[in-house]
Amino acid sequence: MTAQLIDGKALALKVRDSLKGEAADIHARYGRPPGIAVVRVGEDPASKVYVTSKEKTATELGFGSWHHHLDAGTSQAELLALVHQLNADPSVDGILVQLPLPKHLDSNAVLEAVSPAKDVDGFHAVNAGHLFQGRPGLVPCTPAGVMKMLEEIKFNPTGKSCVVIGRSNIVGRPMAMLLLNASATVTICHSKSDVAAEVRRADLVVAAVGVSRLVKGEWVRPGAVVIDVGMNRGADGKLSGDVDFDAAKEKASWITPVPGGVGPMTIAMLMHNTVAAAKAALSRG
Ligand code: NAP
Repeated sequence: MTAQLIDGKALALKVRDSLKGEAADIHARYGRPPGIAVVRVGEDPASKVYVTSKEKTATELGFGSWHHHLDAGTSQAELLALVHQLNADPSVDGILVQLPLPKHLDSNAVLEAVSPAKDVDGFHAVNAGHLFQGRPGLVPCTPAGVMKMLEEIKFNPTGKSCVVIGRSNIVGRPMAMLLLNASATVTICHSKSDVAAEVRRADLVVAAVGVSRLVKGEWVRPGAVVIDVGMNRGADGKLSGDVDFDAAKEKASWITPVPGGVGPMTIAMLMHNTVAAAKAALSRG
C-alpha cells in the first residue's frame, strides 16, 4: 500500500479562503475587521520569520494587524504593561506573544497576563483547563490544525486507538485532549515510553517529538493514519519530520509530508482563532 498524502498547504488555503469571507462579513456588519496583535521581544531570527509570516497572512485576510517589536532589554513590567494595554483595546481580538522570550523575562507570567478571551495561541491555563474539561475555548493552533486535517480525510476518532508521541503544552497534551474529547482511546507517549510497541497498535499516530525520523516505517500498522508534526532542521539545512516518511508511506493509509503538512495549518488555525475571538467579543457587545 502507498499512502495518500494529506496536503496541508491546500487545506490551509481552503481554511484561509473561508476566513477571508468571514472577516469581510464581520467588517461589513460591525464596522471593523478581526484584529490580531503580535508581540515580539528581542532579535530571535526564527521568531522574526514566524511573526512576519503571521502578519502577512493576517493582512491578506483583511484583518487588522499590529506588530509590537520590543527591544531585547525590555523589562517584565514594560512587557506586562503592553499586554494590559492590548487586553483593554477593543480593536484587538487576539494577542500573541511570540516565544521564546529573552531569558530574563518570565514567559509563564506573560502568557497568563493575556486575557483568556484574546489568547489566540490557546496557551493560557484557563483555555487549557477548558480543553481538559471538554468545554469550548481557544485551542492551541497546531493540534487544532491536525483535527482539521483528520476531518478533511474523514477520519473519525471515535473508538479508535490514537497514539500521540510528545507531551508538550503546545502540541502533545492539547492534541491528546482533542482526541479524547472526540472519543478516541488515547495513549500519550514520551521519552520514557516504549514508543514502538504503542505505535504498532495505533489506528492514528501523531508524532510531535522533535527527533528526526524517530518513528520507523516497520512500526506503523497497515492502514494507519500518520500525522507528522515534527520540524527538524538537519545539518544540510533540510527539514525532516519525526517519521521515516519513505518507509511509513508504504504502510499507512494517509500520511502528512514535511514540509507541506501540519506546518501550513498552524498559521491558518491562528487566524481561525482570531475570527472566533472576534465573533465572541462582538456578540458580547
Ligand atoms: P518539546 O516541547 O521539546 O516536546 C517534545 C516531546 O517529545 C516531549 O514530551 C518529550 O518527552 C518527547 N520525546 C523526546 N524524545 C523522545 C523519544 N526519543 N521518544 C519519545 N518521546 C520523546 O517539543 P514540541 O514543542 O512539542 O515540538 C515537537 C516537534 O514539533 C518539534 O519538531 C517542533 O519543531 C515541531 N512543531 C511543529 C509545529 C508546526 O507548526 N508544524 C508547531 C509546534 C512544534 P519528555 O516529556 O519525556 O521529555
